[in-house]
Amino acid sequence: CEKKCFIGFDLGTSGARISVIEKDDSSSNQVYKELHSDAVLYKEYDDPTAWNEAIDKLLIETPDELLSTTKAICVSGTSASCLLVDKISGKPTRGLKAKMYNYDITQETDVSIDKHITPTAGIQAKEWIEKYAPKNHVTRGNTSALSKLLHYHASHPIQSNEKLAHQSEYVANTFFLAEPKKCGAGLDKNTRHYVSDWHNILKLGYDVQKLEYPSWMKECFEDIGINMNSVLPDVVAPGQEIGSISKSVAEKYGICKDAVIVGGTTDSNAAFIAAAAANEMPKYGTAVTSLGSTLAIKMLSKTPVEDSARGVYSHRFPDLCCGGSSTDDDEKDTDLWLVGGASNVGCAILRKEEFSNDELVQLSKDMDVSSDSYLSYYPLLKKGERFPIADSEKMPCLEPKSEDRQEYLKGILQGIARVEVTGFEVFDELGAVPSFPDVVMTAGGGSKNEKWSQMRERMLRESKSEGSNNVKVLRAEYAEASFGAAILAASSFT
Ligand code: ADP
Repeated sequence: CEKKCFIGFDLGTSGARISVIEKDDSSSNQVYKELHSDAVLYKEYDDPTAWNEAIDKLLIETPDELLSTTKAICVSGTSASCLLVDKISGKPTRGLKAKMYNYDITQETDVSIDKHITPTAGIQAKEWIEKYAPKNHVTRGNTSALSKLLHYHASHPIQSNEKLAHQSEYVANTFFLAEPKKCGAGLDKNTRHYVSDWHNILKLGYDVQKLEYPSWMKECFEDIGINMNSVLPDVVAPGQEIGSISKSVAEKYGICKDAVIVGGTTDSNAAFIAAAAANEMPKYGTAVTSLGSTLAIKMLSKTPVEDSARGVYSHRFPDLCCGGSSTDDDEKDTDLWLVGGASNVGCAILRKEEFSNDELVQLSKDMDVSSDSYLSYYPLLKKGERFPIADSEKMPCLEPKSEDRQEYLKGILQGIARVEVTGFEVFDELGAVPSFPDVVMTAGGGSKNEKWSQMRERMLRESKSEGSNNVKVLRAEYAEASFGAAILAASSFT
């Protein structure tokens, strides 16, 4: 077939979305064109059956000619959402629901999530994590995938038929995947189900730099009686082929029978890829700021940087040109790391202060953004900040409150922009390379505001970090995670 389509799915917090794209080879840049997109809501966001039902609905509504020319499929999901499944049947083994991204092992005792749950399991799991996980390691959080896995084990020993699957793997594997091919990550015919990826696996403890499970995890699993090889998934690069589509699914929906399934990613990394890679190949120094209800920033760096106390960690970034990544030593210097941090400030404060979207447009239109407002706000909704400073006692500051609505708005927008600038400065302090982004793509509701972009660009250029004086702020054309997942699918096809 002439046309080559690539499908990305995103399993978000309230529903699932599909993007079907094609690669435009006529341009010298890497350009992807969206041919179809659609979304459905789940009945229950934590019910794995509902995820697969959503995928089914989305496929039924996708035009036949796109499905029949689909070459690769990629699924992204919410980070650290996972469950135990039966290796062969793919059915959840513990309950009807998964442990979702926000499931806190010290708080939850829901038997529909784990029928064996005991009141002390959370305490036991936490003790194990604290004994074995290195100080400040990302797995130490109460919502990390490793905490969830140990929580299952503390309630009831993990059995030999059980495998851990993250949300995106669950769908990729139980819905789509036939038998995986032998590939770079050392898959063989016996370890057929549940292949994870560098992004989903980070909060399970996998060392994405060395591409192996670390020795402290091995020691922990040995001591507490978990068969590590049996329960943990294999790992590939996001976008790396993991196997072909099952014959029955291809026939049912009319998907090209040669289509492959590729390693997935997390929803926020997929959104970065959509914003940064739709029109050109992202390189180090490419950043994306998401101005939604909360502010999140991400930048591609040559070096991985981390400060878990402030929620800054680095994901290994796949090579979007040639299907996953080259792990050749010769090419190590081309490795890219996606450094990210998320603040509690964001556009949610605009709703709280009763700025309607129309008023935002009206007041922004002739706002003078060429110089700073005298107002120096820290626009949190409530007490507590995680990044660029970690301070659970940090108070919101919206004083003195200006009676002039336009000045008040400017003060708030400036306060959020100040947090963004400081965030990039923190990446610099922690050793990111380059020390400052050269382009900041903007996604989320706030990206619509041209005046705000101008203000942010000026403030970023005034930063003390080296290389900030040429930074450009642009609006991202695409920011849907499903679009980013589709780009990963396309990256497998060279
Ligand atoms: P969410 O993170 O909830 O998905 P969105 O990305 O949809 O949020 O962004 C919605 C936010 O964008 C709202 O809080 C709204 O106040 C803000 N917003 C909408 N239009 C503008 C604008 N013109 N200027 C600044 N902020 C805006």
